[in-house]
Amino acid sequence: MVATCNITDATPSSFIAHQPARAMMDEIAADFLKTDIDVFIGGGRKHFAQRKDGKNLVEDLKAKNYQIANSIEEVQQVKSGKLAGFLADENPVKISEGRGDQLLVSFQTALNILNQSKKGFFIMAEGSQIDWGGHANDTQYIVNEMLDFDKAIGAAFDFADKDGNTLVIITADHETGGFSLNGLKDGVVDGKFTTKGHTAVMIPVFAYGKGAELFSGIYNNNDIFHKMLKAFGFK
Ligand SMILES: [Zn+2]
Repeated sequence: MVATCNITDATPSSFIAHQPARAMMDEIAADFLKTDIDVFIGGGRKHFAQRKDGKNLVEDLKAKNYQIANSIEEVQQVKSGKLAGFLADENPVKISEGRGDQLLVSFQTALNILNQSKKGFFIMAEGSQIDWGGHANDTQYIVNEMLDFDKAIGAAFDFADKDGNTLVIITADHETGGFSLNGLKDGVVDGKFTTKGHTAVMIPVFAYGKGAELFSGIYNNNDIFHKMLKAFGFK
């Protein structure tokens, strides 16, 4: 699992934790220890190391054979085994504030480690702050974060092309901001928003590689879960 927000934030948590509320990040962090996740990289060190209950889950992770990385340079050095990468105490900064290639490097590190598994693997990689640009009604924020996410997409496609047995799915859990483009008349594209929140606008699902045909058509977003299980070969 790779994200450019707290690794205990909503999207990564939905893949690993079972808690009644997304704000329960200390409890969500503890749920990581109840799983066999091989690699997770993102922000949110605080929810493991400086918790309300005083426990230090980083020590528990070490006891479960996780290598702990506290910077992107340390993440990059890990070539195999289990990895917990903490790139910030809370959320990593924006691309415009100097986050650099953390997402791409984290994704490639996870890919290199997990590709050693003979049983295959699943990676969830999130360009987490695209949504935040939508909440802020800030077009440049969205563009910067989307271009950052696009680098990870490129790396995924390169891997899938070489591997020939990999499915890449690119989607979102919702649209944010009611974003649309205008300026066709002037030849200068500009973004406009209708809200500061999430919207019910339909979102695209791009699927590429083995099993991509399962993702055509129109369906509810929770169907993606079942389609992914099917594509992976789980009964
Ligand atoms: Zn949001």
